[in-house]
Amino acid sequence: MAPVSSGGNGLLADAWARIAERMRTEVGDVEYRTWLQQIVLGPVEEDEVTLLLPTRFLRDWVRTQYGDRLNTLWNQEIPAIRRVELQVMRPGERPAAPIAAEPSESAPVPEPAAAPVSDRASDMRSDLAVPLDPRFTFDTFVVGKPNEFAYACARRVAEKPSSVGFNPLFLYGGVGLGKTHLMHAIGAELMRNGGISVAYMSAEKFMYRFIAAIRSQSTVEFKDHLRSVDVLMIDDLQFLIGKDNTQEEFFHTFNALVDAGRQIVVSADKSPSDLSGLEDRLRTRLGCGMVADIHATTFELRISILEAKATASGVHVPGKVLEFLAHKITSNVRELEGALNRLIAHANLFGRPITLESTQDVLHDILKAHDRRVTIEEIQRKVAEHWNIRLTDMSSARRARAVARPRQVAMYLAKQLTSRSLPEIGRKFGNRDHTTVMHAVSRVQELMERDGAFAEDVELLRRMLES
Ligand code: ADP
Ligand code: MG
Repeated sequence: MAPVSSGGNGLLADAWARIAERMRTEVGDVEYRTWLQQIVLGPVEEDEVTLLLPTRFLRDWVRTQYGDRLNTLWNQEIPAIRRVELQVMRPGERPAAPIAAEPSESAPVPEPAAAPVSDRASDMRSDLAVPLDPRFTFDTFVVGKPNEFAYACARRVAEKPSSVGFNPLFLYGGVGLGKTHLMHAIGAELMRNGGISVAYMSAEKFMYRFIAAIRSQSTVEFKDHLRSVDVLMIDDLQFLIGKDNTQEEFFHTFNALVDAGRQIVVSADKSPSDLSGLEDRLRTRLGCGMVADIHATTFELRISILEAKATASGVHVPGKVLEFLAHKITSNVRELEGALNRLIAHANLFGRPITLESTQDVLHDILKAHDRRVTIEEIQRKVAEHWNIRLTDMSSARRARAVARPRQVAMYLAKQLTSRSLPEIGRKFGNRDHTTVMHAVSRVQELMERDGAFAEDVELLRRMLES
């Protein structure tokens, strides 16, 4: 990576040099030269640093592969920097060194720069020693119903690699549910115990390394090296669908390792039998060991994860806020974590406590993405759930307080959150009269003023339904 071009700020240039060096050790020389060397430090504005790349293709690749890491490293060097923006250079900004032609859109596989022959062997080694994310350990993995089986299998493999019945270990599940986390945890545990060589990489990296090896005529080293590890972990195997040559190579590596009694761990977004597009013989072998799926999170698991992460951060996050997040962001753990991190960063930056109100502000965009129009049915369902009454009681004639109060709240919320008229709302609540709805609305308002806990409950429901 070239240092800051002209008249640059020495501090930034130094920081950049350290980050570049760090990246080089982390990703290895081959990968560094192929993807990162051509980055040029661009302008810095407030909390954002711009890095320039010669082509759109490189920019996109660096963004998806190294974007997060660059963000983290910059933020560690200079805490004021919170974002790294990757841009394509304008012609004048291009460095003097020749730049490889941009591959055409129809040929998405780039041609990695060939390494000088003498460097090859050492490149290959450093290239495969992929650093594991130190945050992804068994200790930081929160176990609940949806993931306990996968967790137990991962633990088992970390304790006793290559046990009968656990090889290969095939982990599958939707995006952001902890597959990569578990794989890194296995790697970290094995390395901690020492004496075992572990290679971890995404299927995508596997493919690019394989291609790079072909280009630099070092496939023999590549194969030898892969086949010498004790544990090989390949993440996101679904990437190999349609990549026949790479699949073939992986299949041979896989067989060689299993036959030699080494452990394989693979993750994918689907079960082996559902990974159509993978060769049958590979699918069959993948399903031969232990297949463990990670299910979608439950509300309870989301709460446990949020609690664990909030505690680890040292910032107080009120229980109501955690509940709100666990209700609103149900898609995956990564998003949930992202939302919480943003809240915590915000609280740290401005030294203000986190409240439901500030949460809505700070997470405005995330919450909006989950936005839908609220219906009266939804309101009834959420309110009934909240107070643990039957949905049918929303329209029943029962007048017991335990039922009547939630029903009034639901009417109040229907008035607040929908554009329905009072008679329309009344009809949805067992054909009640519009004056009943009016009464419910003013009763709830009154109670909210008198009773703080009640007001908070209603507020929480409103926010949950609304944003
Ligand atoms: P996947 O590989 O399945 O897409 P990741 O392993 O990358 O998902 O998980 C996404 C994020 O969510 C990571 O930051 C990870 O630490 C976190 N995460 C997922 N599941 C858990 C869990 N059970 N406990 C703690 N963190 C989790
Ligand atoms: Mg992953």
